[in-house]
Amino acid sequence: MSEKMLKFVGIKKETPSKIDAKERVSNFHEIYKEFIENKASEQASRCSQCGTPFCQVHCPLHNNIPDWLKLTAEGRLEEAYRLSSSTNSMPEVCGSICPQDRLCEGNCVIEQSGHGTVTIGAIEKYITNTAWEHGWVETINPKKELSETVGIIGAGPAGLAAAEQLRQKGYQVTIYDRYDRAGGLLIYGIPNFKLEKSIVERRSKLYQDSGIKFVQNFEVGTHSTLEELKEKHDAILIATGVYKAREIDVPGQHLKNVFPAMKFLTASNKKGLGDKVPEFDDGTLNAEGKNVIVIGGGDTAMDCVRTAIRQKAKSVSCLYRRDKKNMPGSAREVLNAEEEGVKFIWLSSPKEFIGKDKVEKVIYDKMRLGEPDSSGRQSPKIIEGATEELPADLVIKSLGFDPEEIPTLFSEPKLEVSKWGTIKIDLKTMRTNIRGVFAAGDIVRGASLVVWAIRDGRDVAKEIDHYLKVKRQQTETEAA
Ligand SMILES: Cc1cc2nc3c(=O)[nH]c(=O)nc-3n(C[C@H](O)[C@H](O)[C@H](O)COP(=O)(O)OP(=O)(O)OC[C@H]3O[C@@H](n4cnc5c(N)ncnc54)[C@H](O)[C@@H]3O)c2cc1C
Ligand code: SF4
Repeated sequence: MSEKMLKFVGIKKETPSKIDAKERVSNFHEIYKEFIENKASEQASRCSQCGTPFCQVHCPLHNNIPDWLKLTAEGRLEEAYRLSSSTNSMPEVCGSICPQDRLCEGNCVIEQSGHGTVTIGAIEKYITNTAWEHGWVETINPKKELSETVGIIGAGPAGLAAAEQLRQKGYQVTIYDRYDRAGGLLIYGIPNFKLEKSIVERRSKLYQDSGIKFVQNFEVGTHSTLEELKEKHDAILIATGVYKAREIDVPGQHLKNVFPAMKFLTASNKKGLGDKVPEFDDGTLNAEGKNVIVIGGGDTAMDCVRTAIRQKAKSVSCLYRRDKKNMPGSAREVLNAEEEGVKFIWLSSPKEFIGKDKVEKVIYDKMRLGEPDSSGRQSPKIIEGATEELPADLVIKSLGFDPEEIPTLFSEPKLEVSKWGTIKIDLKTMRTNIRGVFAAGDIVRGASLVVWAIRDGRDVAKEIDHYLKVKRQQTETEAA
């Protein structure tokens, strides 16, 4: 064992410092500073190099965390990067926005023994950003070019990770996306203060320079059917994510200035990227000077409240029907929002939106937690007669996402979906019921995490490769 390791008793856990809340709400920049090199090495040396590394076991990508921590502690950063990127297509993204408290860091044995977790995410981000600075992140140069082409629908993390893996094997890859930029929710969902857009654009450009073709502003369903796309390619991957916003069924929901979360976030992200956004520019989707109410308790709701704060809203309140302990959003994000001035109204659920034409106030029921439901979480119950109200100029609904109706949209009624509308696949082969068509990411799992989308993208690439190899062998046998 390297004598550089096992320093967790003598060296305290340190995370990169966070910019002060007052300063950070004045802009949309990332709120965490970067480790400096000796700090990253020092923090990596706290790892106890467990025989059974629970950090790795609980990472969806099974990243070889203890080994790249050791390499970092020894100052061998290029090797650390090569190892970390061998299992992860976007380590800099995971380092920034994975909920490490629920995955690797939440399962670190040092955390369990009361010494504070190894700061895995911050070190992962540091290693990869250093790799980019030093030019260690290279374009993909396949050993040989293959003639088969793969069409990927969706340039989110699942589609991009699959494209990277397939290109490495030499396939000709085209990604179709209905947005004007690649990245999926990394570009138009997640705000800059969690993940700077330049980081996503840098990745997409690398893939473009590696020979992956991007066809933007191309919506399957509008510009082509699935069948037409199938005719152009030897295999198809559907990686379209989930975008149908869940609705709330209360009186007044159709009043003006009540919007779904993605509409609000996309406008803000586009504005940050320098685009013209008429609905933002005319004030409709801009929270400035408004009393904003966000409904929901997940990560998307946290992104909305923190965006509204940065747009200089007059007040920002978040209504959530359970309590703080039972919030689905990451505890880290709730803390960040609280520091930035968001008011949380726990155990509250909207009863009615009031206004003549535009929303003017929200009446909400006070809730209590009842018996645990089938998911094991205590179900919220209305306390009869206990209502309160808040003034509102802008209401943002963030109640989760469902899949769009893909078979109808793609003019492929035979494509099998689950009762939730997610695409059904054979879990071993990741094939849909249509020959040559695969699916991965949120459109299979339902709304999930970036790290799972990357995992699915990498797994499906292996399956597509296997499918195309077998097809090639069959063609060669028939021709012989
Ligand atoms: C606001 C928000 C914040 C989040 N924050 C986090 C976080 O902090 N950490 C985390 O791990 N996860 C987070 N997530 C979840 C994470 O972003 C998703 O799990 C992940 O992006 C899913 O990847 P995907 O590739 O399956 O889909 P997506 O990222 O949704 O990409 C799908 C792509 O398909 C394209 N597309 C869809 N339909 C069509 C069509 N018909 N034709 C052509 N193209 C199409 C879309 O334009 C999009 O580019 C967040 C999600 C949201 C909404
Ligand atoms: S669980 Fe913690 S201490 Fe153990 S190998 Fe992983 S990072 Fe190191």
